[in-house]
Amino acid sequence: MSNANSPNPAPLTYDYIIAGAGGAGLSLLHYLLASPILSNKQILVIDQSLNKTNDRTWCFWETGNHEFESLVHHRWEAISIHSKSFSKELPTSPFSYKMIQGIDFYNYVMTAAKLKPNVHWVEAAISNITEINFQQPQKEVLIEWGGGSAKAKMVFTSILPFQMNNLASASKYDSRNQSSTHLPFLWQHFKGRTVTFNQPVFDQKVARLMDFNVPQHGATAFMYVLPINEMQALVEYTLFSDQILAISEYDKVLNEYLAKHYPDDTYTIQHEEIGAIPMTQQIFSNFKSPIYAIGALGLAIKASTGYAFQFIQQQCKSIVAQLEQGSAINTNVHNTRHRFYDAVLLYILYHHKMEGAEIFKRIFAKNNAATVFKFLSNTSTLWEDIQIMRSLPTHIFLPAAITVLCRRG
Ligand SMILES: Cc1cc2nc3c(=O)[nH]c(=O)nc-3n(C[C@H](O)[C@H](O)[C@H](O)COP(=O)(O)OP(=O)(O)OC[C@H]3O[C@@H](n4cnc5c(N)ncnc54)[C@H](O)[C@@H]3O)c2cc1C
Repeated sequence: MSNANSPNPAPLTYDYIIAGAGGAGLSLLHYLLASPILSNKQILVIDQSLNKTNDRTWCFWETGNHEFESLVHHRWEAISIHSKSFSKELPTSPFSYKMIQGIDFYNYVMTAAKLKPNVHWVEAAISNITEINFQQPQKEVLIEWGGGSAKAKMVFTSILPFQMNNLASASKYDSRNQSSTHLPFLWQHFKGRTVTFNQPVFDQKVARLMDFNVPQHGATAFMYVLPINEMQALVEYTLFSDQILAISEYDKVLNEYLAKHYPDDTYTIQHEEIGAIPMTQQIFSNFKSPIYAIGALGLAIKASTGYAFQFIQQQCKSIVAQLEQGSAINTNVHNTRHRFYDAVLLYILYHHKMEGAEIFKRIFAKNNAATVFKFLSNTSTLWEDIQIMRSLPTHIFLPAAITVLCRRG
């Protein structure tokens, strides 16, 4: 076993193994080490690549300050939505829309954790996670990788059957082969570029959340433009659909969009990111205590939007609170009411009952950003939910809601 940083001998059985050191695994590690009760537990972190790169940008909204506030790269106090013959800018107050770069988050958590002698590290691709000692009161979990293995009292895994930052890996995943296959499955897939122009072209105070004036590919597609300053922005072509595109197709749309909006200016590309985020309520794993699925594997992603960062934080904080109390661990983060709304919206998008561009246009046209953000954060009141629903056509949403209800029953 490679034990990269710790001079201490590795224990025979760890208290916790964190399988997958990405967004969820490192968030959990951060909260464990911040806990006065759990910070000295023996923890093993395993990832196929501990040499992290800036492979993703996390954006989210919130009121007040965040656990990782010092890492916030940029924030916006207004968003804009655009579609055919519609354009609206909305102040986000009391929310701010914030961006954290993946590499800043990985470095922050890993640098602090590497100072702790009770945290051990292995760089390896895990091949197997199995429960052992079924008959004993204290169950254990065995984790195996090529050339090694380790045991723990509890395992928290975020290892999906595909890689979200690898379109080829995601395209090979067959969602029709799963046990919960009757539930819709869409990809939120995208390619983004950080571009820097030769002169000021952006309004750095406004995040262009959705510009639907791009090829729709028979799905829901939009451009996402996040200005970091007047000359630099992350520009991302994003689609919700069941088919991932060839890389050249995202590039084509990005080139056309930038040429159309900034015809007289030149730009250089600093960075690129790609991703395929599952939008679904299908389950990815059947792990049972003492093996817990977290992050995307643990259904932290909001099925109707693909946003996950804040839900991952909630999930990991809640797991640590439950561990501190010694209670049975529940990893659910989405409440039943909002899960139902997600299911209805996903059903409508999946079955093309209404265009996504029209749905989001109507929601943002008739509501303020704060109400929409609360609705999408699962924190809206029933009254606020009714306001959102009144923006949408009953003749489409009511039959969809009934179908989803019947399917659940
Ligand atoms: C490019 C991109 C941008 C995103 N942007 C946003 C955003 O703006 N806002 C938002 O809310 N959400 C966003 N998401 C969605 C979500 O927040 C992230 O995907 C988040 O990283 C999910 O965390 P996770 O821990 O579940 O998965 P990951 O962060 O992908 O972590 C999984 C880890 O497991 C490791 N691993 C995989 N297989 C093995 C194996 N066999 N053995 C050992 N290790 C393994 C991987 O190396 C990785 O480190 C984005 C996703 C992507 C891909």
